[in-house]
Amino acid sequence: MVEGVRVNDAVAVRVRGLWKRFGEQVAVAGIDLELPAGQFIGLVGPNGAGKTTTLSMVTGLLRPDQGSVEVVGHDVWRDPTEVKARIGVLPEGLRLFERLSGRELLAYTGRLRGLPGTEVDKRATQLLDVLDLAGAQHKLVVDYSTGMRKKIGLAAALLHNPEVLFLDEPFEGVDPVSAQTIRGVLERYTASGATVVFSSHVMELVESLCDWVAVMAAGRIRAHGPLTEVRGEAPSLQQAFLELVGANARDTGSDLDWLGGGAR
Ligand code: ATP
Repeated sequence: MVEGVRVNDAVAVRVRGLWKRFGEQVAVAGIDLELPAGQFIGLVGPNGAGKTTTLSMVTGLLRPDQGSVEVVGHDVWRDPTEVKARIGVLPEGLRLFERLSGRELLAYTGRLRGLPGTEVDKRATQLLDVLDLAGAQHKLVVDYSTGMRKKIGLAAALLHNPEVLFLDEPFEGVDPVSAQTIRGVLERYTASGATVVFSSHVMELVESLCDWVAVMAAGRIRAHGPLTEVRGEAPSLQQAFLELVGANARDTGSDLDWLGGGAR
């Protein structure tokens, strides 16, 4: 990422008072957040922090109990068609049409998006090429590896050239070569002024990719802003994160004393 690229001061996503409960479990506990447009944004937090629930509500996949979400100026729940035309989503555990080949999946997605066939063909060829899937384009998706599934999911999410792209754990289960490829595509995409919002608990990745981060824990936003501000004086984002979520160096000295001690 080119350091500090800021296309304008526009807000890509505006979240107000967002709540979600599952029975007794409060997954998202009243979030207010404004995500700047044209940035590479990381939503970070420990397991169970509420990242997936938040992204699902922001992208119109899960109805909030309370609160509102606007994406590029349109209300996600009052104006879903406008929002869905402007966003791309790579959800966690993406369900794909397994009995289509990679190319067929993109052709189908393109037509659903209302793109002309020739344009879909052109974009699909380029995306398959850049994502190193050209050799597997006629293979059925059911036979794709985890990394290939992420890449074809990313291609499908990018096909209509969305203004904002949401990715839930896009690098999970992806080998370093594929991760580098995905990274290159995303960097090129944000350099053109688009916004990427992705969730992760891999701090090194977030630190190396993002301009702007929001730290989540127990359903709340603990810190947000430009990466350098959130990191503050801490030597790394990992350290700042551990301090923010209160999980700094949990003492395991007296626990697990049976582990590795020879007594079996
Ligand atoms: P991870 O990094 O482990 O994927 P996360 O930050 O994405 O975690 P969420 O998946 O949003 O966290 O979960 C937040 C909380 O809400 C967790 O306690 C989880 O058990 C709960 N939760 C999420 N979805 C459901 C559901 N459909 N039914 C019941 N509880 C749920």
